[in-house]
Amino acid sequence: MIEAVGLSKRYGDRVAVDQLSFTVRPGQVTGFLGPNGAGKSTTMRMILGLDTPTGGRVTIDGRPYRQLDYPMREVGALLDAKAIHGGRSAYHHLLCLAQTNNLPKRRVGEVLDLVGLAEVAGKRAKGFSLGMGQRLGIAAALLGDPKILMFDEPVNGLDPEGILWIRNLMRSLAAEGRTVFVSSHLMSEMENTADHLLVIGRGRMIADCTVQEFIDQNSELLVRVRTPEPARLTEVVTGAGGTATPDGDDTLLISGLVMDRIGDLAFDNQVRLYELSPLQASLEQAFMELTRDTVEYHAAVPGGREVSA
Ligand code: ADP
Repeated sequence: MIEAVGLSKRYGDRVAVDQLSFTVRPGQVTGFLGPNGAGKSTTMRMILGLDTPTGGRVTIDGRPYRQLDYPMREVGALLDAKAIHGGRSAYHHLLCLAQTNNLPKRRVGEVLDLVGLAEVAGKRAKGFSLGMGQRLGIAAALLGDPKILMFDEPVNGLDPEGILWIRNLMRSLAAEGRTVFVSSHLMSEMENTADHLLVIGRGRMIADCTVQEFIDQNSELLVRVRTPEPARLTEVVTGAGGTATPDGDDTLLISGLVMDRIGDLAFDNQVRLYELSPLQASLEQAFMELTRDTVEYHAAVPGGREVSA
């Protein structure tokens, strides 16, 4: 279990992490979500004792990271996959890590199998693709068979197969009862991976809830209706307190009324329907709206709209 209380970090007069209090629990995947620059990496570095908090504290099973007797047996982390000595083979890279951390040599073979790099174990890491480098970084994180795993933006730049592999790995690590803490700036990556979400913006906690709660609170249910009489249906829907927005000639997107009620209203008013279907507003959209005011850099795009960096 990871516990932060009032955790803060300042760089000069810039506040990178602002009084964060949270608990990351075992047996589930906790997604750490926030736009670029929100303070996710800084928080993770403080958990690992790589950065010193300017306020508050963070502990691992009750102790600060720097006081752990065998850190690699308790916490495994993938922060920057490129931080690998390129001239060494994957095998030697892991062997060095095992030897300097008092871990049994047999773990090297085990983790190479686990991440699917056994066949290229003798090759130099310098020639590895991004996905293979990522797997090697994960092998290193798993070397000490730790109960707690942290991954900072692990799927950045990976192909769909690599993304699926990492997602399944995180789910299976959590199913084994481990604590899995993973950061991302994209909601879509968390939607099918995480059980719990910590959402931050400008170093502050915005939401601490389950994925389902996030979906329920942040996505409005729309109903798509196709009818040859859109004007009449709009009138009926508006009269019942709903809102209808045209989406093409014969289609309306209706909010504010549940689907069955729309069907009943159409029937009672003899409006013919060709389609009645639920549409979930995108979670990505909900996340962007929630963090909109906290995004550090807005890039202007033609037409005057703003998009988050
Ligand atoms: P994220 O991981 O969510 O993208 P970071 O933790 O990397 O965010 O950064 C949070 C904020 O702290 C940003 O404004 C960033 O510019 C700033 N920051 C991070 N590291 C340093 C540093 N070493 N020196 C100064 N500012 C930093």
